[in-house]
Amino acid sequence: MKRMLLIPMLCAAGFAFGQATTAAAPAQDLNPQGGPPMLGIHWARGFEPNARVTNEAKSARAKRSPNMTYHGGKIMPTAVTKAVFWGTSWGSYSGDKISGMDLWYNGFNISNYAKTSDEYTGTNGQVTSSTNHLGHIVDTSAATSGANTSTILAEVCKAIGSPDSSGNGYYAVYADTPRGNANYCAYHSYGTCGGVPLQFAYFFKLDGDAGCDPGDTSGLHSQGLAAISNVSGHELSEARSDPANPGAWYDSSGQENGDKCAWTFGAPLVTFSNNTQWKIQGEWSNAAYTAGTGYPNSSGQHGCLAGK
Ligand SMILES: [Zn+2]
Repeated sequence: MKRMLLIPMLCAAGFAFGQATTAAAPAQDLNPQGGPPMLGIHWARGFEPNARVTNEAKSARAKRSPNMTYHGGKIMPTAVTKAVFWGTSWGSYSGDKISGMDLWYNGFNISNYAKTSDEYTGTNGQVTSSTNHLGHIVDTSAATSGANTSTILAEVCKAIGSPDSSGNGYYAVYADTPRGNANYCAYHSYGTCGGVPLQFAYFFKLDGDAGCDPGDTSGLHSQGLAAISNVSGHELSEARSDPANPGAWYDSSGQENGDKCAWTFGAPLVTFSNNTQWKIQGEWSNAAYTAGTGYPNSSGQHGCLAGK
């Protein structure tokens, strides 16, 4: 979700994500503390930011095409990715998340999953499935929640030094902060470090968090890794198809390609180009919806591609 009006009630001191469902209007641009907007928020399971939309509005919406439209901005023709593991606990971490996410990003390159976003074009060309992973950084300074996007951007700039000069740098911050009362699992946003544009994303620690768990029973990964890998597909796909302001591809409700297929899975496991396998949500394809070849999202619209 993105680019909606700031709701005054969310400007109160403290961060009122937990109250969003009580707002009369959709609770969007949850960024009361300033800084770049949160884009493509990956809402936790069962949280419906538009739950108060009237039945009348719903039926009007049902008559429109659910496809995303183009809003005049750039896309990411490629992505130069790097992961930042942020928080004191990463210093003594011995689980599979750090190595696992490096495998995930390496395998994303030229995967069928990456290809699910290839149809989208922008002022700077077309999304391609080619990405380049530069590994990870561990920063054992104390992490924060993602509530203040400026804080996360500052952390990215500190951790990586200078971003990729192409402007296609994508920096994924995996904090060791649990989600708490936040309604979302992750988001992506954009900014600059030293004048160079970049994309970044923020991910809570999702261990034992049922609201952000894809339910991977394969035994291939720890639950915590499975959870952040699923939301990583959501955010990276959205950043590639709708990275900045002005936006590129989102629908009449502000939903990006990951949002439109969130918490739906077109395959038990998706195989990446390095043969790693992940339980990961599909991504919306206008072309698949139009052709009727996608699998259905949570609204029964056949526009999701599994990328298996
Ligand atoms: Zn999203």
